[in-house]
Amino acid sequence: MSETKYSLSSGIWDSSDLYKNAVLQLQEAANVMGLDPNVSNRLMVPKRALVVSVPIRLDDGSIRVFEGYRVQHNMTLGPGKGGIRFHPEVNLSEVAGLAMLMTFKCSLVGLPLGGAKGGIRVDPSQLSRQEAQALTRRYTSEINMIIGPDKDIPAPDVGTDAQHMAWMMDTFSQERGFAIPGVVTGKPIEIGGSLGRAESTGRGVVYTIQHAAKHLHSLGKPGPKMDSSTTVAIHGFGKVGAIAAQEIYQLNTKVVAVSDVGGGLYNKNGLNIPDVLKYMAKNRTLVGYPEADAITNDQLLSTHVDILIPAAIDGVITAKNVGSINAKIIAEGANGPITNEAMKELESRGAFIIPDVLCNAGGVIVSYFEWVQGLQNFFWSEAEVNEKLAEVMANAFKKVVEIQATYKCGMKTAALISGVDRLNRAMLLRGLFP
Ligand code: NAD
Repeated sequence: MSETKYSLSSGIWDSSDLYKNAVLQLQEAANVMGLDPNVSNRLMVPKRALVVSVPIRLDDGSIRVFEGYRVQHNMTLGPGKGGIRFHPEVNLSEVAGLAMLMTFKCSLVGLPLGGAKGGIRVDPSQLSRQEAQALTRRYTSEINMIIGPDKDIPAPDVGTDAQHMAWMMDTFSQERGFAIPGVVTGKPIEIGGSLGRAESTGRGVVYTIQHAAKHLHSLGKPGPKMDSSTTVAIHGFGKVGAIAAQEIYQLNTKVVAVSDVGGGLYNKNGLNIPDVLKYMAKNRTLVGYPEADAITNDQLLSTHVDILIPAAIDGVITAKNVGSINAKIIAEGANGPITNEAMKELESRGAFIIPDVLCNAGGVIVSYFEWVQGLQNFFWSEAEVNEKLAEVMANAFKKVVEIQATYKCGMKTAALISGVDRLNRAMLLRGLFP
């Protein structure tokens, strides 16, 4: 069958940079590890996608229709797993790219889960609580046939939180007539959430930074000491960035800059993070915080720091601004914050990149713990959760640096090889249906 007659895709997936970057990364990993094209071709496109219209009545009485998506990229290893994003620029292609990253992430950290992602094209800051609830419930109802504790398990992502998961769990349960907490993770503790889940992604980001610092020292390279001489800048002050800031502050390492969508803060002596969090909780923005200089998001990214954590959205470090990036370690708290071109440039300059699929895997690891606890109706202490999280992240980091040393490739490629290798073996064992 000629490739010209039947190309891999009609092009419906490829419209976002995030998806294109994910495919390029997969191709690079596939080349380096010598992956059978019969396997890599299957991984270049998602297994299944559902696009739904989500009509809701707004507070002013009018009806507005939003576009929603759920994409299941690969479910060889188990049920789909991945967050729900509420963002004005979400589209099918971006969600498909994020679902692909979830497949590699779950595989890399050894979970019995596949990759999925969902989203609604909406600016959540424009919704009242009632509108957000109506949107979440109707969306859940529209995708209800493809989600479930054994099928596909959503979680929070950008613009959603534990409250959205509670509404999803309630809607799904109402439609079946009994409580089904296992349909989502990242739920409130009161309805079956896990202790430590809310902090898990940011905490995991910091674990990987500590491993990176130790790794660089073990190679005899200059690495940060992770004490008060070390400086950190964090782009994005949400569920990932704010927790990472808190954890780093507790290590007595200096967080000199943070930012959110409205702009950033800089204090060369280090920000008092508990105080910034209090300000944020009261004002719902960082803007105007008195004990720091105001900076732009661009200035934050180019701050002279030891460690930069892009923890907001994708595509923030690109070929255009990579020349101004100064950090020695860049920890991808967000999914896809560094484009492939920029990644190559940073690596050639000797920066150490902690790739997203490894760096922010703490969230899905503790989501898995939440799912397991729910299935057993047996709940663990936060100390147990954190101990198990630290163990899984340490093993994953070790595996990735070993692969990097073996193939002499970049950290991103090594992380993908680790994820794809396990998946490849599972796909070959399961074979091709029919
Ligand atoms: P969130 O909505 O809680 O926070 C996002 C933060 O980024 C906010 O502070 C927001 O103001 C800021 N932001 C948004 N657009 C921005 C822009 N253009 N410039 C600067 N700042 C901007 O989201 P989150 O859950 O913290 O997710 C952040 C990233 O981490 C996403 O890429 C997400 O996919 C990834 N991630 C999240 C989790 C999780 O458990 N929440 C797990 C793995 C990966």
